[in-house]
Amino acid sequence: MANQWIAGVDLGGTTTKIAFITMNGEIVYKWEITTDNSNEGQNITANIAKAIDEKLLQLGQAKENVIGIGMGAPGPVDYETGIILNVVNLGWKDNYPLKDSLELATSLPAVVENDANCAALGEMWKGAGNGAKNLVCVTLGTGVGGGVIANGQIIQGVNGAAGEIGHLTVIPEGGAPCNCGKTGCLETVASATGIVRLALKELNNDEVAGELHDIFLKNGKITAKDVFDTARNGDPLAKKVLADVTFHLGFVLANIGNTLNPEGIVLGGGVSKAGNILLDSVNESFAKFAFSAVKNSTKLALATLGNDAGVLGGAWLIKNKLNQ
Ligand SMILES: [Zn+2]
Repeated sequence: MANQWIAGVDLGGTTTKIAFITMNGEIVYKWEITTDNSNEGQNITANIAKAIDEKLLQLGQAKENVIGIGMGAPGPVDYETGIILNVVNLGWKDNYPLKDSLELATSLPAVVENDANCAALGEMWKGAGNGAKNLVCVTLGTGVGGGVIANGQIIQGVNGAAGEIGHLTVIPEGGAPCNCGKTGCLETVASATGIVRLALKELNNDEVAGELHDIFLKNGKITAKDVFDTARNGDPLAKKVLADVTFHLGFVLANIGNTLNPEGIVLGGGVSKAGNILLDSVNESFAKFAFSAVKNSTKLALATLGNDAGVLGGAWLIKNKLNQ
């Protein structure tokens, strides 16, 4: 058992991260390949199989050392059947049998899960969750993803769509349109895209000045990182945007905390790299809206695994399957 590896895969729209991981969750080797979306996504699983075989050959390891492949994919997944229900940017048609396709291509037992759920499992196993059996993870990236773990298992929901924290409504009337078709979702406010949108709205007022405004004039655009960086320097406009973002995020997390009272709520994804300026501000809003027993027991934390959360979560799926 000691030398056995699990292949953890984090499938993204442009790149696919792959890692060989031990049963204890140590990453032995990790690399990335380009995701080939052409031909209705027909090459995706074959390319992953090829990449694994080539890497094993390169490392002088036998295929028998790999006991399974666990994958996170960007879309709702029917956990029992391994069917990915719908994806926008991978070329697959709706209800694509991803698990079967992966098993056929790799000749390995496969488990497939939604990518935000995989990141949550990774953080639970080896990251900020520190083994907590009740944990909520929010991924703040281009969009906002979520994963809810109760008693050590991901909450799937009846259609694989549980934990879609990004699509909780925070602005019931007059909110911005979301990629999901609704308006006023958390994702329109707390994603990198949402933060930039809010900042641009402020910057388009005639009266504004300051560091963020200067960056906007110089570059013709701004990033979410610019907003955090200038807020850290005391720019009033950036601070106003940050307060708006974290008010809504803390509000949602408090309500989730009031529902589940998990040990922790972990903030991950690119936006979470802002660090303590984000965490402190979200904590303030969380404390305001959390039920007192929740406020005293549910801790907010920044994710610690970065880009490795997905592949580790994928590996955990196989480990969990073997232990059953
Ligand atoms: Zn939405």
